[in-house]
Amino acid sequence: GGGNQGPPKRQVKLEKECEFRIEVGETPLRLRLVSGTAEVFGTELPPEIWLTFHPRLKFAVFTWYGATLEMDGTTETDYTADETPMITYVNVHAVLEGRRKRAKASSTTNPDSSQGPRVMVVGPTDSGKSTLSRMLLSWAAKQGWKPTFVDLDIGQGAITIPGCIAATPVEMPIDPVEGIPLEMPLVHYFGHTTPSVNVELYKVLVKELSLTLERQFTGSSEARAAGMVINTMGWIEGVGYELLLQAIDAFSVTVVLVIGQEKLCSMLKDVLKNKPNVDVVKLQKSGGVVSRNPKLRQKSRSYKIREYFYGIGNEFAPHSNIASFSDLSVYRVGGGPQAPRSALPIGAEPTADPTRLVPVNINHDLLHLVLAISFAKEADEIISSNVAGFIYVTDIDIPRKKITYLAPAAGDLPSKFLIVGSLTWVET
Ligand code: ATP
Repeated sequence: GGGNQGPPKRQVKLEKECEFRIEVGETPLRLRLVSGTAEVFGTELPPEIWLTFHPRLKFAVFTWYGATLEMDGTTETDYTADETPMITYVNVHAVLEGRRKRAKASSTTNPDSSQGPRVMVVGPTDSGKSTLSRMLLSWAAKQGWKPTFVDLDIGQGAITIPGCIAATPVEMPIDPVEGIPLEMPLVHYFGHTTPSVNVELYKVLVKELSLTLERQFTGSSEARAAGMVINTMGWIEGVGYELLLQAIDAFSVTVVLVIGQEKLCSMLKDVLKNKPNVDVVKLQKSGGVVSRNPKLRQKSRSYKIREYFYGIGNEFAPHSNIASFSDLSVYRVGGGPQAPRSALPIGAEPTADPTRLVPVNINHDLLHLVLAISFAKEADEIISSNVAGFIYVTDIDIPRKKITYLAPAAGDLPSKFLIVGSLTWVET
């Protein structure tokens, strides 16, 4: 018994070019910069101000010139590392910075020379791709650029919920606690957490996203000069490798950063050798990257969905809404029933068109699924349209033909067209 005062505050002194790696436990951790300068994945910590890092977050505080930190709370683990790849990472940033300046200085009428770097970060799972993307974006934003962040990772994306590919401009260094502020991200809903469910659809959506960005870039020399940072999936073998090549092509990538994989780097160098304007650069993986097993990945997907509806610290209040079945049109893309062999010309193999729109009956199968709200005006625009947001189905009343769902806001949905995949969530 007795009053628990909690753990005492603790100070950590960091030498120059060192980082303090932290895995937050099940309770939040408060941390502040007492003296010196330090950053979290490219974003400087404000002096003196206590920041609250949420449970289970894994991050590092790096200092270029030395710093003292103070912590209030317990951690799962924490340690100081004096070996990091940060110098090579910031050198990459410096090269990109030079290219952005050159693009800005060049005549805006020339679409090639006024285009800043289009960087793609590739590597196996748990190599630190998202983290490097984030650093490059934050360092660029600190210098006044507004680079576009493209996230093609449908398993563990950083922009929105899993199952999506998305893009958003990054106008400020990414907040170490809150992440990327989302004004209006450009999101396409694939609906599954692995592309193998429908590889063709994944490719089509990547192409759609690249075309939309290309149109936006045409109208904005500022966005064009700042360029893109593209985060990818950890699937780098076989079809996964083909998908990387397709994305390099779709986004006209000019710099490929390969983290921690000799083989992938040499394969890419080889296949891209006749494209002189594409640089393939091998980078070291940071020893701080924390591996996540499938169970942890599943959990972090679930947290991402929760965060969409409730916010990181429960700061949002989602609404429970009720609609009639007849007010909504739910579609699934691809994977519909195949044509029977007997209905096909002789010799033809039955195939399910991977981008076919299949109307879905509203019934109990939709319970606990996450559906995307399409911006499409007509059903046939669903694949080429991005999505406005998501709903979560909490009840289906068949006799009354009513569906109850959770949405970020009250009121009517922006469209009656909904896309369903296999993404489920169990509210906890
Ligand atoms: P995926 O396999 O999902 O594609 P990834 O390659 O993008 O993963 P990250 O998400 O960047 O890897 O990193 C994995 C985890 O390790 C994240 O929780 C990240 O915050 C953490 N992490 C990365 N670098 C460091 C570091 N230097 N110190 C502490 N934690 C780190």
